[in-house]
Amino acid sequence: MAGFPLLPHQQIGVDEQSRAIQNRDLQLAVSNRKIASMIIELVNTGSELMLGRVLNTHQQWLCRQLADLGYLVSRQVAVPDTGTDITAAVGEALARADLVITTGGLGPTSDDLTRDLIAAMFGKTLREDAEILAHITEFFESRQRRMPERTRVQALVPEGALVLPNPHGTAPGLAMEVRPNPFRASKASWLVMLPGPPRELRPMFKDAVVPLLRRVLSLPAAFVCRTLRATGIGESVVEERVSAPLQPLVQLGLELGYCARPAQVDVRLAARTADAEALVNRAEAIVRERLGDFLYSHGEEEIEATIVRRLNTLNQTLSLAESCTGGCLAHRVTNVPGASAVLLAGLVTYSNAAKGKFLGVRATSLDAHGAVSEPVAREMAEGACRETGADYALAVTGIAGPSGGTETKPVGTVFIALAGPFSTIVERKFNPFDRETFKQVTAQQAFDLLRRKLPAPR
Ligand code: ATP
Repeated sequence: MAGFPLLPHQQIGVDEQSRAIQNRDLQLAVSNRKIASMIIELVNTGSELMLGRVLNTHQQWLCRQLADLGYLVSRQVAVPDTGTDITAAVGEALARADLVITTGGLGPTSDDLTRDLIAAMFGKTLREDAEILAHITEFFESRQRRMPERTRVQALVPEGALVLPNPHGTAPGLAMEVRPNPFRASKASWLVMLPGPPRELRPMFKDAVVPLLRRVLSLPAAFVCRTLRATGIGESVVEERVSAPLQPLVQLGLELGYCARPAQVDVRLAARTADAEALVNRAEAIVRERLGDFLYSHGEEEIEATIVRRLNTLNQTLSLAESCTGGCLAHRVTNVPGASAVLLAGLVTYSNAAKGKFLGVRATSLDAHGAVSEPVAREMAEGACRETGADYALAVTGIAGPSGGTETKPVGTVFIALAGPFSTIVERKFNPFDRETFKQVTAQQAFDLLRRKLPAPR
C-alpha cells in the first residue's frame, strides 16, 4: 500500500481482513477514477439568459441527467446570441473537453446562429437534408399552418454531422466529431448541438444523445447511481447518521452526496468501480438501516406519487381540505398520473364561512380557538371524510404570513390533521418560511403524515 496516504477508515479501526479487502478495492477504485476523467462542458446560448428573462434550466437538467449516467460536467458557460461570444465559448470548451454540448440557437430566426457558426468554424458546407425538410413540412401541414420560408434553414446540416431527430419541433439537433480538433492539437472531441425549448431538448437528449454517448464516449467502468429520499429529517441530521458508517465505502470509491429540498433530503449513492453494484447495495443497506422510516420511497419518486401508488394498491381514497396551502396539496397530487383513482376532492376553504359551509366546521370551534387551531384542523379533516366519503382526509390550516401571527401562534404555525379509519391525528408544525416554501413544506409534512399511517405495502 505504499504511496497511499493514511485513510479515514484506517484511522477509525477496521479489522485486518476487511482492511485487506478494502485496500485491494481501493487500488481498483483509484485506477478507475483516473480512467473515468472524461471532460464535458456545456455552452448555453441565449441573450434571454443573460437578461434574466429565462432561467437556465438546461444547465441544471443536463448536469443532472449526465451525472446520473456517470458523466460529470466540469464547466458550464452561458453566452448571449452573438457570433463572437458563441464562437469564443465553443472554441474554448473544445480546447479542453472530450464532449461539448451547446443549447439554443438552432431555430429559424435571425438570432439563431449556432448551426451556421459551427459550420463556419470547421469549414463545413451546409447541405439541405431532404428528410428533415419533409419533417418540417409535415410538421406545419399537420397543424394546418403555413410553413414560413425561413424555417427551411433548419433542414441545413453541416457536412459530416449526425442528425438528432426532433419529434417535438422543427429544428433537429446535430452532433459531430471534431477530428482533427484545431483547438487541442492531438485529441478529437464531440460536439452536440441541442435546441433551446426544453420540451424539445429533453426528449432529444434521452432518445438520441444518450445512445450516442454510450456508443462514442462510453464509460470505462460500470456506473451505478441510486437516490434515496428522506423526509421529516434535516440534512445535517441525515449526514450525522450516515456519513461515518459510509466512510469506509467512500474510501472504496462510493460517491456520496446530499441534496436538501423543502422538507426533503436526497441521499445520492453512486460508484464507478468494477463492483459498483455491490458497493452501492452495501451503501444503500447502511442508509436504510440508519434512516429507517424517514426514507419514503425507492428511487426518485415524489412523496405524493408514493401516496397515490400506495392508495391505489390499497384501493382506498383521499380527500383534501386546505386553507393556508391554497390547493398546493391538490396540485401536487393531481400531478401524479393515476390520481383520479384515488383523489375524490380537494377543497380550498380559505374563509371561516367556507370551512363551516363545506366541511361542517363549527362556529363555536372557530370562535373559541381560531381558524388556525387543533380543533379546527381536526374538524376540517373529519368533515372532508364525511362530506366526500373518502377513506382518508388531510387538512391544513396555518399562518403563512408575513402578517397574521400572534405571540402564541407566530407566522409559520400550521396544524395538519389526518382523518381515517382511526382516531383523527393532528400535528402542530412551525414553518417560518416565505409563502411558497411554507406551502411546499406543509404539503410535504401532510403527505408524510398520511404515508406513515397507511398500511405497510406487502
Ligand atoms: P427556436 O426554434 O424556438 O428558436 P432554438 O433552438 O433557436 O429554438 P432558442 O431560440 O435559443 O432555441 O430558445 C428558444 C426558447 O427555449 C427560449 O425562448 C427559452 O424559452 C427556451 N430556452 C432556451 N435556452 C434555455 C435554457 N438554457 N434554459 C431554459 N430554457 C431555455
